[in-house]
Amino acid sequence: MSAADAAMSAGMPDHLVIAHLFPDALNLYGDRGNIDTLARRASWRGIAVEVRGIGADDGPRLAGADVIFIGGGADQHQRAVADELIALAEPLRRAIDEGAALLAVCAGYQNLGHAFRSPHVGEIPGPGLLDVETEMPAGAERFVGGIAVELEEGSPIAAADGLGRRRVVGFENHSGRTSLGPTMRPLGRVLIGRGNDGASGFEGAVAMPGDGGLRGLRIGTYLHGPLLPRNPHLADFVLASGLGRGAPIELPPLPDDAEWDAHRRFADDWTAIRPGVYRRSRIGRLRDRAGALIGF
Ligand code: GLN
Repeated sequence: MSAADAAMSAGMPDHLVIAHLFPDALNLYGDRGNIDTLARRASWRGIAVEVRGIGADDGPRLAGADVIFIGGGADQHQRAVADELIALAEPLRRAIDEGAALLAVCAGYQNLGHAFRSPHVGEIPGPGLLDVETEMPAGAERFVGGIAVELEEGSPIAAADGLGRRRVVGFENHSGRTSLGPTMRPLGRVLIGRGNDGASGFEGAVAMPGDGGLRGLRIGTYLHGPLLPRNPHLADFVLASGLGRGAPIELPPLPDDAEWDAHRRFADDWTAIRPGVYRRSRIGRLRDRAGALIGF
C-alpha cells in the first residue's frame, strides 16, 4: 500500500493547501523553511501538498486553504504590503473562520494585528486578525538572539509523544513591542530571550480554534529561525488544526529524533550564551543604533 493509500485508509485528508502570504516581500531568516517543513511533514504522511503564493489580488485563492503562513521582514517591507493586506482582510477572515490555521512570524505577526507603529514608517493599520498591537519606540533596544519559550501547562501544542515536551525555540530580531488584547493568550513564557516586549515575560499570541469567534487556530510569534523545523510539535499542531478545519486531527507520529536533537542543541547553545536576563554588549548596542538609523 502506498503512503497516500495508507493516509486514505486511516481516514486522513489526502490534500493540504498552504497559502503563503507575500512570499517575496516577507521571508526573513529563511521563514520559507516553515512552508517546506509543513509540506514535508504532510507528504511523509501520504498527503498531497499544494502551496499557493498569495499577493494582493489573490483573495479568491485563499478559499480552501488549510494553513495560512506569513513571514518576517523589515519595516519598509511591512509598509509595502500593508494596503494589500487590508485588501485581503475579508478573504483571510473567511478562510480562518472556515478552519484554516494561521501562523504569522515577526513582521507578519505585527502586520496582522490592529496596528503597527514605527518611527521609520509611521502607523500601519492592520486587519486585526490577531488581537494585538505593536509599538516600536524611537531608539528602542533591538531584541536579537536565541529564544526559548515554555508553553503553558496542558497546552495542546505540547508534543503528543508521551514526553509532554512544552518548549518552543527560535531566533528573535525585533524592536517592536507587542501587547495582547483580551481574545488572545501568549504562546508561552520566556525562558531565555526577550519575547513580546522584553518586560512581560511572555512571547507570542495564540487563539485556539473557536477563540475570539473564529473557527481556525491563530498563532503570532517573534520566533524565526525558521521556526518549525526545530519544533516538530508546533509544526504538527498547525497541520492537525488546519487539516481538521479547527478540530485538530490525530496525525501518525514521525521519527523526529533529528528534529528534537536540533531543538535541544539550539536551546543548549543559547542557554550558554544568553543565561538569565539578556544584556546586549556595547558593540551590540551600537549596532542596534546603526540599524535604527537605516530603518530596519
Ligand atoms: N520590523 C520589525 C521589528 O523590528 C519586524 C522585524 C522582523 O520581522 N524580524 O520590530
